[in-house]
Amino acid sequence: MINVSHNVARSQELADQISAFLAAGNSIKELAPGETGLIENKPIQRPSTYKKASKNLNKPEVKEAPEPSEYLKRINFNRTERHKAELAGSSFFNGKCANHGLSQFQIIADRHYCTECRKESARKTDIKRKQRYAMFRSQHAQNAQINAHK
Ligand SMILES: [Zn+2]
Repeated sequence: MINVSHNVARSQELADQISAFLAAGNSIKELAPGETGLIENKPIQRPSTYKKASKNLNKPEVKEAPEPSEYLKRINFNRTERHKAELAGSSFFNGKCANHGLSQFQIIADRHYCTECRKESARKTDIKRKQRYAMFRSQHAQNAQINAHK
């Protein structure tokens, strides 16, 4: 047997409590089906990209021992060869040139040069000098013509 009047009284009591609750300035949120009304305390997941980046940052940098550059190898080789030549009283030695590989070097004062490079640069200088001279000649000839017409 169910005591109906008691249940009605209970619901009336609940209704009064809700009214008092709302009167106090509170609000009631209607829950969607399945909602518990509790804030789920999910662990905050970092974006995967952040994880990747931090992993890379933490990775120790592998520093390779710097290998002597080709330039340094060449310089040291030439220094040794030059020294040998000097001991032998010669101003020529076989050195390594960046452009010509193994070629003859000439010692001039405290420096030494690849003779092939010097030939090339001399040729270039010669061409430039000839071009300048040719330009000067033609300019001179034009001036002479202009002057002749005056
Ligand atoms: Zn050279």
